[in-house]
Amino acid sequence: MKQQYDYIITGAGCAGMSLLMRMMSDDFFLDKSILVIDAAEKNQPDRTWCFWEKQPDIFEPIVHHRWKSLDFFSPTYAGELSIAPYEYKMIQGLQFYTYVQEAAKKHSNIEWLNAAVVSIEIDAATELASVVLADRTIYATKVFNSILFNEIKPAANEYLLLQHFKGWVIKTDTASFDKDRAVFMDFRVNQQYGTTFMYVLPTSANTALVEYTLFTESLLPKDEYDHALKAYISNELKLSSYTVEHEEFGIIPMTNAQLPKSTQSIVFIGIAGGQAKASSGYAFKFIQKRTAAIIDALKAGKPISLKNNFSAAKAQLYDSTLLHVLHHKKMGGAEIFAAIFKHNKAADVLSFLDNESSLFTDLKIMRSVPTGVFLPAAMAELKLRM
Ligand SMILES: Cc1cc2nc3c(=O)[nH]c(=O)nc-3n(C[C@H](O)[C@H](O)[C@H](O)COP(=O)(O)OP(=O)(O)OC[C@H]3O[C@@H](n4cnc5c(N)ncnc54)[C@H](O)[C@@H]3O)c2cc1C
Repeated sequence: MKQQYDYIITGAGCAGMSLLMRMMSDDFFLDKSILVIDAAEKNQPDRTWCFWEKQPDIFEPIVHHRWKSLDFFSPTYAGELSIAPYEYKMIQGLQFYTYVQEAAKKHSNIEWLNAAVVSIEIDAATELASVVLADRTIYATKVFNSILFNEIKPAANEYLLLQHFKGWVIKTDTASFDKDRAVFMDFRVNQQYGTTFMYVLPTSANTALVEYTLFTESLLPKDEYDHALKAYISNELKLSSYTVEHEEFGIIPMTNAQLPKSTQSIVFIGIAGGQAKASSGYAFKFIQKRTAAIIDALKAGKPISLKNNFSAAKAQLYDSTLLHVLHHKKMGGAEIFAAIFKHNKAADVLSFLDNESSLFTDLKIMRSVPTGVFLPAAMAELKLRM
C-alpha cells in the first residue's frame, strides 16, 4: 500500500462506487492511482435503488427490472401515470456492489482497503488531503468522501425530516402481480404519523417489493412497520398467502440543513454531499449526475463545481418550501402529491423532481397546489435566503 494516491474514495457505497465505475470507464484515469476505503465488505443485499431516466446510463447492464407505467393512489385522486419518455428502473444493491468490485479487479491502478476512516483533513505541510485511519494516515491530491462523520443538526429555520421505510420482497404461489405495472405511491394508508405511503414493485407475476414509507421527524417502533405491511398486503393487495423472501430498512435524511462544505481537495459526494433530494429522498440519479460532472471536471482540468447554479438554487427553494409545509403540518403529503399528479403530466412531475424542469413547468406544477398554503411558505423560505 502506498502512502500517497492521486485519488482516494472514502465510502464505497452508491456514490463512491458510482464515481469509481465512471473512472474505470474512462481511459483518462488509467494511469491515476486510486484507493477505495470502506469499513464494510459491501457483500450484503442491503438496499434496492429505484429511479427514473430517459437515456440508459453506465449501470444499464445491471438494471434488474423496469416499468413504463406507474400507478398512483390516494383518497382524493388515483390514476395511471404514463411516464414516457422515462422508464422507472430498479437496481439491486448487492448486484451493484459486485458489478463494480468485479470490474475493479481488471484495473491494477485501483486498490481497496477495508478500514474505518476516522477523519479527513488537509495536511498543513503538504496541503494534500489526508485520510486518517486508526493506524495510519494516507494522502491524496483529492479525496472524494461519502461518509457522514457527524449527525445532521439543522439550525433554527432549517428542517430535517426522516424518510424511513421498511420493505418486504414477497413471493406468492399463484400469479398475483402485473410485472409491467408498479405502484409509485399509494397514500390509502393511515396518515396518523405524517406523510405515509406504500409502493409496490413487482418483478414477476409472483414476486414484488412492497415498501412502507413515512416522512416524519422520528422513527416508529419496529413492530409498526410490520403491522402496516401486513395490513396493506391483506387489505389492498388482497393476498393472504405469501412468504417474505427478504427485507430492507432504510432512513434517508430529507433536509435543507447545511452539510459539510466541499473544497477542491475534499469533495463530498452522495448523501454527505447533499445529493438526496430534500423533498423526496431520491438520491441515486442525483449521485449519477454529480459523479458524472466530477469526471468531466477532472478530465477538463477544471475546478470541480462547488456552487449551486440557478436551477439547483431554485430547486432548493422548492424543496425547502415543501419541507416547510410538511414540518409545520400545513398540508399532508397525500394531498400535495395527489394535487400535483392530478393536474400535471407525470413526465413533467418527474422532470420537476429531477430539478430539470423549465420555469414554465415549475409554475404549472406550483399552480396545482393551494397557493394559500405554499405561497407564504415559499416567501418565508425566500426571505431566509436573501
Ligand atoms: C434501504 C435504502 C433504500 C434506498 N432506496 C433508494 C431508491 O430507491 N432510490 C433512490 O434514489 N435512493 C434510495 N436510497 C437513498 C440513497 O440512494 C442511498 O442511501 C445511497 O446508498 C446513498 O449513497 P451514499 O454513497 O451517499 O451512501 P452509502 O451507499 O450508504 O455509502 C456510504 C459508505 O460509507 C461507508 N462508511 C460509513 N462510515 C464509514 C467510515 N467511518 N469509514 C469507512 N467507511 C464508512 C459505508 O459502509 C458505506 O459503504 C435508499 C437508501 C436506503 C438506505
